[in-house]
Amino acid sequence: MVAISHTKLIIINLKQLERSIKTTMQNYTTDAINLRSYNFNEADKIMVMYSKEKGLIRCVAKGTRKPTSKLGGRMDLLVANKLLVGKGQNLDTIYQAESFDTFKGLRKNITKLSYAMYCADILGALGIENDSNCSKIYDIFYTALRNMSSAKNTNATLWNVIKFQLRILNLSGYSIELDNCVRCNQQIDGKNLSFCVSSGGAICEKCSPKTSIQEINARVRNTLKKASEVGLMESLYVQDKEILERSFNLLRDYISVRTHKKLKSADLLASLV
Ligand SMILES: [Zn+2]
Repeated sequence: MVAISHTKLIIINLKQLERSIKTTMQNYTTDAINLRSYNFNEADKIMVMYSKEKGLIRCVAKGTRKPTSKLGGRMDLLVANKLLVGKGQNLDTIYQAESFDTFKGLRKNITKLSYAMYCADILGALGIENDSNCSKIYDIFYTALRNMSSAKNTNATLWNVIKFQLRILNLSGYSIELDNCVRCNQQIDGKNLSFCVSSGGAICEKCSPKTSIQEINARVRNTLKKASEVGLMESLYVQDKEILERSFNLLRDYISVRTHKKLKSADLLASLV
């Protein structure tokens, strides 16, 4: 038997302690909402989630496709979980998940579900890892899903999607300009204006470009301004479905320019209208 000196034992114990502290530090807990998932290996899934503490995260949910999996339904799309995650070199791993909201109202209504999936797609496209605004963005997304889940009709659902679109654009550095013309900087008088999707702003009648414009009237402009000013819980400002749809469509088109892709869920929405 090899004799180990006291000093050596202390060093070995310190190394073990250091290793265990490192492992603990590499794990993290966070609230996160499932945005999308991909099958991985035989029974795993890769989950793309928006988390309160780390922004956009990608984690492996091991064995989640097995019928006996403990994670199972907790990895369904648009479920909010409290997670214990192990930090990996390439991908993190979900150790534990405890659901605290499944937004039931969304799952009973295809229109609501489609709008909610569209919001998830926006975050999947514009969200980034370790965003300094991640806690704020997470709260906005969570509140939007709660509000859409309990919305009484399509107008109320749309109103919440519009508020979500505007806030995510603001926090991603892509605010829209509705007060001054993006070409000549003159104040917009509210009449006869256009919206340039590629610039993300209003254009006065004088500068009126020949391409990439959408005519917007004062009511659409006021709806968008109101939606960006009011609190997230503020109830519906306009009851006119056409005005809400035009406001939504304008933001959808601008977001597709900013994300450099047409979000698949936006196509699904078009087929529902
Ligand atoms: Zn102008």
